[in-house]
Amino acid sequence: MYTMSTSDFSVHTRDCDEVGSGMPISDLPDEVTSLDDLECECWSGFDSFEEIA
Ligand SMILES: [Zn+2]
Repeated sequence: MYTMSTSDFSVHTRDCDEVGSGMPISDLPDEVTSLDDLECECWSGFDSFEEIA
């Protein structure tokens, strides 16, 4: 389960403090194909994209 920001549509972990108001999503959007697409600090705990997807 992830959180998508309703302001800029960036994707965050469910526990992210930065995202503010967001909507829960169960799958990563198709546009997200690597860790580079996930710019928020909340993803820093992940070493590889495979851990997330
Ligand atoms: Zn975040």
